[in-house]
Amino acid sequence: MRPGGNRGGGIVYLVGAGPGDPELITVRGLRCLRQADVVVYDRLVDARLLAEAPPAARRVYAGKSPGRQALRQQEIDALLVRQARAGRVVVRLKGGDPFVFGRGGEEALACAAAGVAWEAVPGVTSAVAVPGLAGIPLTQRGVAASFAVVTGHCAGADRLDWAALARAETLVVLMGAARLGEITALLARHGKPPGTPAAIVENGTREDERVLTGTLGDIAEIAAAAGLASPATLVIGEVVRLRQALAPPAAASGAGAEAVSRLA
Ligand code: SAH
Repeated sequence: MRPGGNRGGGIVYLVGAGPGDPELITVRGLRCLRQADVVVYDRLVDARLLAEAPPAARRVYAGKSPGRQALRQQEIDALLVRQARAGRVVVRLKGGDPFVFGRGGEEALACAAAGVAWEAVPGVTSAVAVPGLAGIPLTQRGVAASFAVVTGHCAGADRLDWAALARAETLVVLMGAARLGEITALLARHGKPPGTPAAIVENGTREDERVLTGTLGDIAEIAAAAGLASPATLVIGEVVRLRQALAPPAAASGAGAEAVSRLA
C-alpha cells in the first residue's frame, strides 16, 4: 500500500481478510480498511473487521451463501470500477486470500480492463491456517513433503485429476462440505487407502470451531452425523495424526477475539 498515493484518484484494494479470526488480517489489510470510503465484503468476513472501517464508510454486502448470491460477479466488478472512478478508496474484503478460490483475479482483471488502479493485499488462506491452528501442519519432515489444495465444489472439482490427487501426500479440499461422500469415494476409487487419516474443520479459527477426525473411509459419515456445515476444510493425509500431539488447548481459541478488541 502506498499511503496517500491514491490522492485524487480512486483505487481498489483486493484485501484478504484471513480465515475467520479477525486478528488474522495483515497489518496492511487493516490499514487499507481504516482508510476505506467503501467496503465491499463477503459472507465469511467477521463483523469485527467491518467495524474497523471508518464509521462513515459505505459497507456493501456482496456475499454468496450456497444457492443464493447478493450480487452477481459482473455487478461486483462494475461496482468496484464505478466507486474507484468516483475517486474513492475501495476495499474489496474477501475471506482468506483473495486469489485462492476467491475470484480476486477476475476483479483485478476488471479493474485493469477499466484502467482503474488496484492493488492486492494478500491474506492468510484458510487452506493452510485452518488446519494449522487445529494442530495439523500440512507438511512435516518425514511425513509429508507436499500438499495439494483443491476445490470440492462441483464446477471446479469435475475438472480435477482425482487419480493424481489420490496420490497427494496431504490433500486439502475447500468448498467440499456438501460433497464429502462423493469426494472421499472418488479418492478411494482411485486407490487412496480407506484407512488414511482425515480431518474436517468447521468454522476454523473462530470461537465456534469444530474439528472432526476419522479416516478417508468414515469421515463423510462422521461429518453427516455431526451435522457439519460450511465453511469447512477437509484434510486427508498422515499429517492428520500429528493433531493428537499438536492440538491447541481449548482455552486458546477465544484469545484472539479478546485481543482484537484491544486493536480498535
Ligand atoms: N479465499 C478463501 C477461500 C474461499 S473458498 C481462502 O483463501 O481461505 C471458501 C472455502 O474456504 C470454504 O468453503 C471452506 O472450505 C474454506 N474456509 C473458509 N473459511 C473457513 C473457516 N473459517 N473454516 C474452515 N474452512 C474455511
